[in-house]
Amino acid sequence: MRPFAYARPASAAEAVAAVAAHDGRAAFLGGGTNLVDLMKLGVAEPAVLVDVTRLPHGEIAETADGGLRIGAAVRNSDLAAHAAVRERYPVLAQAILAGASGQVRNAATVGGNLLQRTRCPYFQDTSKPCNKRRPGSGCPARTGHHRDLAVLGHSEHCVATHPSDMAVALAALDAVVHVEGPGGARELPFVDLHRLPGDEPERDTTLRHGDLVTAVEVPALPFARRSAYRKVRDRASYAFALVSVAAALDVEDGTVRDVRLALGGVAHKPWRASVAEERLRGGPATEEAFRAAATAELEAARPLPGNGFKVPLARSTITATLRDLAGGAR
Ligand SMILES: Cc1cc2nc3c(=O)[nH]c(=O)nc-3n(C[C@H](O)[C@H](O)[C@H](O)COP(=O)(O)OP(=O)(O)OC[C@H]3O[C@@H](n4cnc5c(N)ncnc54)[C@H](O)[C@@H]3O)c2cc1C
Ligand code: SF4
Repeated sequence: MRPFAYARPASAAEAVAAVAAHDGRAAFLGGGTNLVDLMKLGVAEPAVLVDVTRLPHGEIAETADGGLRIGAAVRNSDLAAHAAVRERYPVLAQAILAGASGQVRNAATVGGNLLQRTRCPYFQDTSKPCNKRRPGSGCPARTGHHRDLAVLGHSEHCVATHPSDMAVALAALDAVVHVEGPGGARELPFVDLHRLPGDEPERDTTLRHGDLVTAVEVPALPFARRSAYRKVRDRASYAFALVSVAAALDVEDGTVRDVRLALGGVAHKPWRASVAEERLRGGPATEEAFRAAATAELEAARPLPGNGFKVPLARSTITATLRDLAGGAR
């Protein structure tokens, strides 16, 4: 590991200034469970680590509209265990608990979880080319190992997936991200935080250098009490998603009044399944309708030779998740 400096600023403004001053050579440090691993691998080489875990962003608070404001320094374990999250947004608690391990979740922060880097094996191996790590060097995953990688929204430059489970739930819940940057504070819809690779795969998100995530706000969504996260992976624990589904469903008299649906493990960003949602609203809450909506969403899929299995897997995972939420509809 290369030598680096460590700073522990007292305010968000100081933290932003400390990172912005170093022009790409400084990084915010959350729990370090991803960043420090990447430093050990030589993938990340920050000259300065700016610790943001002691900033006053460690609270989960009620908002005026009945939602929750979750500080970026809240630990993953604390968020998953919070009574209001478990009761009002079970999809969020379940998504967090489906990821990593108890020890990792105790250390990991909300901000760090959302901004963790892809698990594409070539990205993590500095002896290999990778457009995300070294722009213009190529994407060996396209012809190499891509079983775990994207089937939706990828480009010729990158087929990586976003690894976070929590992010999939937040995409489904219409969360809002609060950011403090060199130009001041702003907010953006969660679905606009992460981006598709296009011809700039080195950019995971729409954030700019020096932008600090300070909080995530989840709006009131009464029917999210009936929500769930289902994750399909190679092992029952301690593995990233092949496919995952975050869903909330509002059914009355056998009709879908409203629905929220997002997919993980299939794209460079959490994939909000808007096509399926549109098809479902106002229609019957039956297994047949759920499958048809999933099929419509997945028409955009462009699997690579080694990951075509993800498309039927995503279809059946969406269908099963909605069926369970609807109470076993046939
Ligand atoms: C063995 C193992 C298994 C795992 N399995 C899963 C899994 O199944 N599902 C899953 O979702 N995750 C999994 N993870 C990943 C884990 O969830 C992440 O490592 C963790 O959430 C990162 O949080 P952190 O606070 O430690 O981030 P850090 O490592 O501290 O930071 C990660 C990135 O976020 C940036 N950052 C941190 N805070 C902020 C902020 N407030 N604003 C702006 N940028 C910030 C950092 O600069 C860095 O680029 C696993 C990790 C390990 C080690
Ligand atoms: S898929 Fe993306 S992260 Fe993986 S090798 Fe290709 S460019 Fe790199």
